[in-house]
Parts: sequence; structure tokens; C-alpha cells
Amino acid sequence: MSRPFNFSAGPAALPEPVLQQAAAEMLDWRGGGMGVMEMSHRGKAFTSIAEAAERDLRELLAVPPNFHILFMQGGGLAENAIVPMNLAGVPGGVGAVDLVVTGAWSEKSAAEAQRYADVAVAASTQAGGYTDLPPPATWRLRRNTRYVHLCSNETIHGVEFQELPDLPNLGCEAPLVVDASSHILSRPIDFSHVGLVFAGAQKNIGPAGLTIVVVREDLLDRAMPCCPSAFNYRLVAQANSMYNTPPTYSIYIAGLVFQWLKAEGGMPAMEQRALQRSALLYRTIDESGGFYVNRVARGVRSRMNIPFFLHDERLQDAFLEGAQAAGLLQLKGHKSLGGLRASLYNAMPLQGVQALVAYLNEFQRRHG
Ligand SMILES: *Cc1c(COP(=O)(O)O)cnc(C)c1O
Repeated sequence: MSRPFNFSAGPAALPEPVLQQAAAEMLDWRGGGMGVMEMSHRGKAFTSIAEAAERDLRELLAVPPNFHILFMQGGGLAENAIVPMNLAGVPGGVGAVDLVVTGAWSEKSAAEAQRYADVAVAASTQAGGYTDLPPPATWRLRRNTRYVHLCSNETIHGVEFQELPDLPNLGCEAPLVVDASSHILSRPIDFSHVGLVFAGAQKNIGPAGLTIVVVREDLLDRAMPCCPSAFNYRLVAQANSMYNTPPTYSIYIAGLVFQWLKAEGGMPAMEQRALQRSALLYRTIDESGGFYVNRVARGVRSRMNIPFFLHDERLQDAFLEGAQAAGLLQLKGHKSLGGLRASLYNAMPLQGVQALVAYLNEFQRRHG
């Protein structure tokens, strides 16, 4: 059976071998007489699954020993509140938080953090329609800021930081918080530049329901008194992510994805494939003579999420219908931006992009 290619921004396609293994183990995980969903999260079998997942993630991303890996819930949006509740507390007051706003997701982060912190926008590219990134040297960072937040890959607007800023070099001693939801595990992360990275699983890791938080040890003890215990990083870390029942099945599938990533060559292979896939699609768009348009500045284009537009938007329905018939699914753009979007996560084979490019060219021949 050959499956169509799924370009969804999330929840998104998973590697086929992972789905096959999960199917084979659905009723009986390794002879124990039950499936993973039915196991106690504190039993030996599930503990071994969670420990292996954490170990493999640590290895894949080269997470240093002074960082904790937490398996949490609530998704990226919940972290927009959980991060300030854990990091923005100051005795008897509200801490300062600086955000870099580069698209829809960091915009949401700023709005949510306002409920818990004294928020300032250090830089914003809103005026330009979020088609570029502000150079770190232009960021206005406050001396008393508790942390600096950015979204390293804007899933809707398709801009991606090609490297993380070196805050101390900008005269800022506060930790950097990174929302890496939509490109985690597609490239290495320089942990010398970050204090905390979070990511919802449903883009490039596994099923919805799991949120990964990688947080430096010294940031665990700043929580505000109002922070819910189940979202308190210190308590979650102390309990090895079992403070309350974690999303067990999502952790299991994420673990299978981590094993698949290791077998496929880890971060170097994923980064190389992401470059290859995205370059092919951008080239096709750029060489279409304006029939297809991507408005993002070349140096900051995302390798994962590629929004693009038809020159003649009246063709959009025909484009999407034809794509569906050709086995190319979920290419509709986000409702806030319109147009089209192809998300090219780790599970997307190069053949999927080749099929998309063939369709783009064919559609242009018929309608151009
Ligand atoms: C999808 C996404 C989120 C939101 O994730 P939820 O799990 O829906 O809360 C946050 N940030 C980024 C960059 C995303 O792509």
C-alpha cells in the first residue's frame, strides 16, 4: 500500500516504520500481554520506555548534563503561560520579560506572558508582514529582564533563525527561552546559547499531547507561588516527568521516532535532508516567474514550513483539488495568512517534495 504525501503543519506525518511498529505492538508490547496505552506509568515496562526515550533524545540533541528533559502536557500554547509562571517570578512583584516578535506564534507568546509578567517587545517584524528577522544587535533588551523569548521557527509565517543569538554578547545575562515546536530535531541546538527550549510534539516528534521541555538546572527554582504544581519545572524534574500521569502513548511513539532518527543518521542527516527538501521547493517557487510566490527574505526562510501563494488566487481551489487527487494532502495555508503551505518535517521523504514539485510545474503549465 502506498500512502499519499501529507504536508500538514501539525499534527503531521510520522515515519511509516514507526506507525508499522506501533501497529504491530498495539495489542501486546513485547510479550507482556498488554499494549502501551494500558500500562501503568509507574510499572517496569513503561519506565523502560520513558527512560529510553529520554536517553535517545538527549543523545540526538547532545543535551548537556546540566539540562533536564521534561515530558509535559499542554502543548506550545500552555508553555506560553508555564514559562513565565516558572521563570518570571521576583520576590513580591512581577518580573520583566523581553520577547522578540517575528510571527504569529511569538505574537501569541507575548500576549499570554502579559498575564504573568511585565512584557516588552524587544524587536518586532510585524510592520514588514513577518517576512524577515530582526538582527540581534537591534534588540532592545532590558537590564532587569528575567528571560528573553523567541520562536526559532515561525510555523505560519515561515521564518527560521539560522542561528541562535548570543545574549551575553549583546550585554544580556538573562537566559534565552526558545519555542522550537516546529523545527526541533531538524538541526542541532546550541545549548550554550539557551536556558530553556520547549516544543509541542505534534509537528516534528510524535502525537499531540506531549510537550518537550529542555531546561537548565539553575532555572528550576524560580517558580511563582501561583504556578500549578503539575507545571512546576522543579517538581516535574524531581519526579522524572511522573509528577502526574504523563501522556504515556505519546511518549512511546516519540521514543520510536527517536530510535528511527538515530537509525537514519541523527541530526546531521536530518539537517542535510531538510536543506535538500526545502531548497528544491524554494527553487521551484522562485523559478516560476511569479506564478508561485514566497515572500520571505532568502536568508531566513524556514526549512520546515513553506508558505506560498498563487499569483492568481482564484486558482487556489483548483490547485488544492488537483493536489488532493495527486496524493498531495493538506497544502492549504493557515487561515490567518491564506494561500498555501507545505510543511516538510523529518518524516517527509524527498520523493514527496519531488512529487509536489512535479505537480506545481504541471499545474503551472495548464494554468500559467
Ligand atoms: C503549533 C505551535 C504551537 C502551539 O502548539 P499547541 O500544541 O497547539 O499549543 C506553539 N508554537 C509553535 C511555534 C507552533 O508551531
